[in-house]
Amino acid sequence: MKIIMLGAPGAGKGTQAKMIAAKYNIPHISTGDIFRANIKNGTELGKKAKTYMDAGQLVPDSLTVDLLMDRISKEDCAGGYVLDGFPRTIPQAECLEEALKSRNEAVDYAINVEVPDSNIVKRMGGRRACVTCGATYHIVHIPPKTEGICDKCGSELILRDDDKPETVEKRLKVYHDQTKPLIDFYSEKGVLKEVDGTQDMKAVFEDIVKILGA
Ligand code: ADP
Ligand code: ADP
Ligand code: ZN
Repeated sequence: MKIIMLGAPGAGKGTQAKMIAAKYNIPHISTGDIFRANIKNGTELGKKAKTYMDAGQLVPDSLTVDLLMDRISKEDCAGGYVLDGFPRTIPQAECLEEALKSRNEAVDYAINVEVPDSNIVKRMGGRRACVTCGATYHIVHIPPKTEGICDKCGSELILRDDDKPETVEKRLKVYHDQTKPLIDFYSEKGVLKEVDGTQDMKAVFEDIVKILGA
């Protein structure tokens, strides 16, 4: 099963993608997580990506596409995967189509997690991410058991630099300009599914399971 998560920054793509990955036993692949791991490890790619990420812009396709293609050609992806944060532009989606077509494959589901912009800024201000394992929480909606500490690994939770309100506004604009056209792209392919992302996390997941099958 090859699944793509669509939706604005903060819509809950990562939260749902992790639950999908666990239930259907497929890898969760987040380009944002891959870039953040590179930044943490001080790689060349990380240095290049950081300037764009901090500015609320997309990392250029030239740095993103090969990275993703490499990742989905790994053995653990043979039975499918859930992509979170890729594709984010029409050229990225076209590259993915081409790569899959050459193997007689295609995306099975593009799940659009719909949340209005007015909810997004509030959500992002409350997002906290684990510095070690990447788990995400929300200080009001999905709090950790102990404030500021990751339930899964005990590390510190932080507010991401790019989740500050002024950067979130920029990312939302980038989303509307460059990523939202993917909704029509996948609708035309007949694989688009919409879910109401304003519901609580469990209700959103139940709707997704109805789409994917138990
Ligand atoms: P969010 O989950 O809040 O939408 P991500 O973790 O997916 O954020 O991405 C963080 C940042 O990483 C993006 O704002 C962008 O700069 C960069 N990024 C991640 N995926 C891509 C991609 N497919 N193409 C270009 N830039 C990307
Ligand atoms: P994305 O990957 O789309 O950027 P995340 O999954 O990181 O979004 O979620 C953004 C923030 O909203 C996080 O703080 C997360 O804990 C919280 N969140 C996720 N799903 C919900 C939900 N259904 N209701 C309320 N908050 C949510
Ligand atoms: Zn952790």
